[in-house]
Amino acid sequence: MMEQHTAARELADFLKDSPTAFHAVKRMGEELEAHGYVRLWESGTWELRPNGRYYVIRNDSSVIAFHVGAVKGRWNFQIGASHSDFPTFKVKENPELEVQKKYIQLNTEGYGGMLCATWFDRPLSVAGRLIVKEDGHFVTKLVKVDRDLILIPSVAIHMNRKANEGFPYNPQIDLLPLFGDGSAKGDFKKLIARAAGVTEDAVYGSDLYLYSRQEPSVWGAKGEFISAQHLDDLQCAYGVLQGFLQGSPKDSVNVYACFDNEEVGSRTKQGADSTFLYDTLSRIHAGLGGTRESFYQALAESFLVSADNAHAVHPNHPEKTDARNCVYMNEGIVIKSHAGQKYTSDAVSIALFRELCERAEVPVQFFANRSDQAGGSTLGNISASKVSVHSVDIGLAQLAMHSSYETAGMMDTGYLIQAMKAYYSARISEEKGVRSIV
Ligand code: ZN
Repeated sequence: MMEQHTAARELADFLKDSPTAFHAVKRMGEELEAHGYVRLWESGTWELRPNGRYYVIRNDSSVIAFHVGAVKGRWNFQIGASHSDFPTFKVKENPELEVQKKYIQLNTEGYGGMLCATWFDRPLSVAGRLIVKEDGHFVTKLVKVDRDLILIPSVAIHMNRKANEGFPYNPQIDLLPLFGDGSAKGDFKKLIARAAGVTEDAVYGSDLYLYSRQEPSVWGAKGEFISAQHLDDLQCAYGVLQGFLQGSPKDSVNVYACFDNEEVGSRTKQGADSTFLYDTLSRIHAGLGGTRESFYQALAESFLVSADNAHAVHPNHPEKTDARNCVYMNEGIVIKSHAGQKYTSDAVSIALFRELCERAEVPVQFFANRSDQAGGSTLGNISASKVSVHSVDIGLAQLAMHSSYETAGMMDTGYLIQAMKAYYSARISEEKGVRSIV
């Protein structure tokens, strides 16, 4: 119990430091470095050795880390994947809009499928990445304006009597944040440059997003719930990372992958639907002296755990979830299945993953959508289509997915760490159709 709560509080610190996917990946890189992982560059030469620890970042927003085991004879990849992005609003290139010379708004557009109502009437700010020209070169600088900066004001009920009747928000009208009074004209880019410690004219490119200033909170009768922004999917990204760092590979290469752009379909150069995972696995394999033949052997014995949060039964709407395959916060890891294969779990991968959870003494629960609901999608089936290995879709139960303030269980991050540590310390193998876990 104590351990579980410590994990949840450390997760809260990680979330506070992760206003954007760029910041989340930077923080993961720092944690990897602290554990002896060496950064490789995709444009560089990779010199790998048994028992080595490495990581590689693509686009500042996706990361793949790997821990090489003994790898003497036959070996496999044991992969855990999650996503680094979350729904928010992106600031457009020409960011300021003037209203009656009295207000300056920010011109934004939606990123992913957010619950719009949760973004109103709370302090927000801006963070992201700048490409800055320095001595004729272009370097990346992360920026976070660390104060309450902007807010999206609701229209008063007196001016919109339909506000509580399922009002449709227009993103170009209703969701624009207020940045300042009329005198703030021309200030936004200056302010961002100043926050990054550079001058406005040195900034050649920017990817800037809104984030909520609301801090994580632990609440409930016994402190059993935690609310914060970005629980989907940074709770899994964090839990899988901790399990990865604590695990010790046998005849395996342990792989930790966290991909950007899941919330917009993963089809970017750094998304789960890119070549990033395949490129990295083939370079690792070749770098360890493998042949084409042994690469296919390794893949046939490899395994992918795709971790993305799941919908807990909603207290006000229990009818929204399946009658039997429904899940609750604080009751352990969720294994997700879908007949149409939006989730990759099947009898083989479920059996193996259940066994690992049993060994780690972590409870599991099973999720399926109501048969009359489409449900969401995730990255397991996308990654598996690029690198075809046995794969299970898991997650942690949460409420209010894609709200600017989501809710999860205090116990579950710890459960995920325990299960992933067991996964990253075991060797899953397959010989003529018979599977074993050593
Ligand atoms: Zn997600």
